[in-house]
Amino acid sequence: MKIWTIVNQKGGVGKTTSTISMAGCLSAMGYNTLLIDLDPQSSLTHYLGFDSEKNALNMFDVFVAATDKPRAPEVLRQAILETSIKNTDLIAAHMALATLDRTLGEEKGKGLIVKNALDHIANEYDFVLIDCPPVLGVLMVNALVAADTIVLPTQTEHLALQGLQKMLKTIKLMRTNLKDKMVTKIVPTLFDRRVKACLNAYSVLRKEHEGDLWRGYIPVDTKFRDASAAGKPISQIASNSRGAFSYEKLVNDLVKYA
Ligand code: ADP
Ligand code: MG
Repeated sequence: MKIWTIVNQKGGVGKTTSTISMAGCLSAMGYNTLLIDLDPQSSLTHYLGFDSEKNALNMFDVFVAATDKPRAPEVLRQAILETSIKNTDLIAAHMALATLDRTLGEEKGKGLIVKNALDHIANEYDFVLIDCPPVLGVLMVNALVAADTIVLPTQTEHLALQGLQKMLKTIKLMRTNLKDKMVTKIVPTLFDRRVKACLNAYSVLRKEHEGDLWRGYIPVDTKFRDASAAGKPISQIASNSRGAFSYEKLVNDLVKYA
């Protein structure tokens, strides 16, 4: 099982879109995938047609159950929902996740909860994709600590590049807590080749982040909006779109690193 964490401290850069689009590709490739929504705003949960307030168990329960050793694996299993995407499950988010920093307080090992929980189901999935909130806190720390691959969607515009610097600094600071062979891939998103600001941002990425940069980009594509309205990955509603092709290429590359 390989864990991909989709993260950026900036919102609106394509984290949730990347998560669902990559899930569609992995499903088409025949892999079993578990999606984890760690964002209290629950975008991924809603995208897949679930009501985050109505699911019996969700990621908040998984965090709370972590202190109760015998019960933890059972809560995790019960929180798993089957989605409409073939071989793809979800553990939903809940608004209460926003209170976790306070709930967990100074609890020892609070950054290891997701990693330890996923150890229980390591043989059941090929991939786990974790969609993060744009906030550096206990949720993001858990997602980074669990990661085999960190996917960093970065909008190709000037302001987003500053956000990227912050995110890379965070990852660097956490280095000793991360897995040894962890891979980081910066994924340029919302790229429009007709827009000068996009081209400039892209060339800055290539110059300054050569090593960590994925050699491709995700173009702006209105089909992503259609996909989200349909509650499906782009590959299922517009398989020949530029957006669908770009994520297919990304997933093919990421699977090779794994
Ligand atoms: P995040 O999870 O980082 O906050 P989202 O994935 O929710 O970002 O994307 C923010 C908005 O941008 C959404 O409305 C989404 O549909 C749209 N979007 C994301 N990627 C693209 C793209 N490549 N082309 C067009 N729209 C996109
Ligand atoms: Mg999101």
